[in-house]
Amino acid sequence: MRIGALEAGGTKMVCAVGDETGAIFERESFPTLTPDETLPVLTGWFAERGVEALGIGAFGPTGVDPASATFGDILETPKVAWRGCHLRQAFVDALGVPVGYDTDVNVACLGEATFGDSKGLGDLVYVTIGTGVGAGVILGGRLLHGMLHPEAGHMLVTRVAGDNGPCHCPSHACCLEGMAAGPSLQERWGKPAVELADKPEVWEIEADYLAQMCANLVLVYSPRRIILGGGVMHQEQLYPLVRKKTVDYLGGYITAPELADIDSYIVAPSLNDNQGAMGALELGRRALLAEA
Ligand code: ADP
Ligand code: ZN
Repeated sequence: MRIGALEAGGTKMVCAVGDETGAIFERESFPTLTPDETLPVLTGWFAERGVEALGIGAFGPTGVDPASATFGDILETPKVAWRGCHLRQAFVDALGVPVGYDTDVNVACLGEATFGDSKGLGDLVYVTIGTGVGAGVILGGRLLHGMLHPEAGHMLVTRVAGDNGPCHCPSHACCLEGMAAGPSLQERWGKPAVELADKPEVWEIEADYLAQMCANLVLVYSPRRIILGGGVMHQEQLYPLVRKKTVDYLGGYITAPELADIDSYIVAPSLNDNQGAMGALELGRRALLAEA
């Protein structure tokens, strides 16, 4: 089976061709310009490669309900040129093959759940902490959508004592993305996050926000594992700090065996940054099966 995978991001579009085993044969990135400029390049790339199906993981907010008129559309994004873009439909029209569509983070979650160390867990949250914060959720083996799709990256958090940094979110006074994504680290400390590696106070505060999130995710979704990925999590010292603070925030209230082994509960991604592309392959495979 020859399947296409598109990771549609706000700064770049990553196209890949692979198969149902998660093998990736070829990959190429294109800058995200305007839909008029970028979409023909992407549809042409996949058309030339003769894919039988395509899976798309898209930046949000985006329509993920197949029953809705906005399925596959980019919605109210700050990237104005993309607002209202019929992203999925462009590929359906150009390629004439089944096209699976979901959020970028749901697709990464699917990649880990299908091909990664979390295979078979069935209840999984995948969070990326990068330019923004986004969370993908699988419950009972199904990708969670609901009314729109989870926006757990903007969950409201309590300001950490001693943190005077601004909230880098236009909508919220103190939300996780605004306090803990890469740009907010830069604003709080005056340097890019990557240059702050040797400052323990930076990571204590960062881990506190991420632990508030993890505790809330445990309380709300009851996942069997939480995967933390994205550029900021390259600071590996964060993992033990986040684990400890999450346990502290939960205060002994939840006594599941999974949580007792916290090192295996809050983990890094296991697919070497291929989780998005591999999840998109699985989404493409599912779309093909559904239309067969
Ligand atoms: P995006 O979220 O745009 O898809 P990334 O997940 O790579 O991309 O996240 C980019 C953000 O992560 C930037 O704000 C950057 O400062 C931060 N970042 C990237 N690498 C590191 C690193 N090694 N340590 C800390 N922060 C990093
Ligand atoms: Zn916010």
